[in-house]
Amino acid sequence: TSLVEKVPLAPADKILGLTAFYNRDPNPKKINLTVGVYQDAWGKVTTFPSVAKSQKLIDNDLLLNKNLSYLPITGCKDFETNVMNFLFKESMHHPELIEQDRISFIQTLSGTGAVAIAASFLSTFITNEISVPNYSWANHTNIFTKNGFPSVDYYPYYDRKTGQIDFQNWINHLKNLPFLGKPRGILLHASCHNPTGLDPTRQQWEKIIDTIYELKMIPVIDMAYQGLETGNLIEDAHLLRLCLNTDKYPHWNNGIFLCQSFAKNMGLYGERVGSLSIVLPEADSQLKERVNSQLKRIVRGIYSSPPGYGSRIANVLLSTPNLKKQWFKDVKSMVERLQSVRLAMFERLNWPDLINKESNHGMFYFTRFSEGQVNELRTKYGIYLTLDGRLSLSGVNNYNVDYLCEALQNVSK
Ligand code: PLP
Repeated sequence: TSLVEKVPLAPADKILGLTAFYNRDPNPKKINLTVGVYQDAWGKVTTFPSVAKSQKLIDNDLLLNKNLSYLPITGCKDFETNVMNFLFKESMHHPELIEQDRISFIQTLSGTGAVAIAASFLSTFITNEISVPNYSWANHTNIFTKNGFPSVDYYPYYDRKTGQIDFQNWINHLKNLPFLGKPRGILLHASCHNPTGLDPTRQQWEKIIDTIYELKMIPVIDMAYQGLETGNLIEDAHLLRLCLNTDKYPHWNNGIFLCQSFAKNMGLYGERVGSLSIVLPEADSQLKERVNSQLKRIVRGIYSSPPGYGSRIANVLLSTPNLKKQWFKDVKSMVERLQSVRLAMFERLNWPDLINKESNHGMFYFTRFSEGQVNELRTKYGIYLTLDGRLSLSGVNNYNVDYLCEALQNVSK
């Protein structure tokens, strides 16, 4: 008997599957609000000016290494220098981590690749227990369970009834987890939580990190949206700065794992540019060498080395002061547009959480609509949200906001 003939059909990707439906929908007023890709006020996915200028520099400058040879297994050395400086010196204000050689760093296939390599490393050497928020980016569970975690634990994050962070239950849940002999990882969204768009307040984060530290959990921080919370790239690294506050948290026993992506904040989605940094518990060059060697081995066994072009763009951008300045502006403009969308929708709907800057951030707004309501939006109005009720603000513009808000109003009655 052929086993391959018995392979069952996997469930369709919840988000990308919907776009296929959208593409086939004949409704001329249809709106796709499913995907997390930034679109401008005309509904176009564009390249940031800073990125376009970096591309031009690469095209025009013969001195830039443009050959198409392989990058090293852990990525391009300049990328490592530029990104570590941007993250640890500029964003987190901890240059000593670089000087003390305390960071094990690899260039990854964007944020997804960073989480996957982190998961594989953790499950091989440290733990196969991880807690992820309920809700979370659906791929988190998929990534961990495909990389050595038998299952994942879900901690309360979002209270669907109130639309608030389920703060006390979150803390209680963590405190009541049984200790099974190994430290436990905890996945945290650094900002702009996906799918709810709702982040803990700064005071809540402090209590949460206090608890995580007390319980000796391992922070695995997914930073896919740096810059999209406040429009300021540096400001948005606040969760990392908090975790690295040595007065409060002098020693993370098993380090901190940072999975970072330039997909959204540089608009490099398909170029797959990101990084995994493991902040080691102490400065120990032999430890770093051992960790690096194992990361290399994991990468080698999956894809050998990361792609070159996108990291070259990031390199030029991060190492050319006027382009970097432009990039900060580009991110700010993107966030200003998303905030203007929130305001335009608020003016029509009067839903206050749309404009609550303390806790509601980023590209997504969570409607708390039931699946029935989401289906009604799709079938009656040609408006596509993900089935959990997540709405991507980036697809909203002056041309469709009236139609959209009228439909949202009707469906929420
Ligand atoms: N993490 C979260 C929370 C995300 O929303 C995304 C993308 O949507 C990613 C990670 C990874 O994205 P990428 O692999 O494109 O960097």
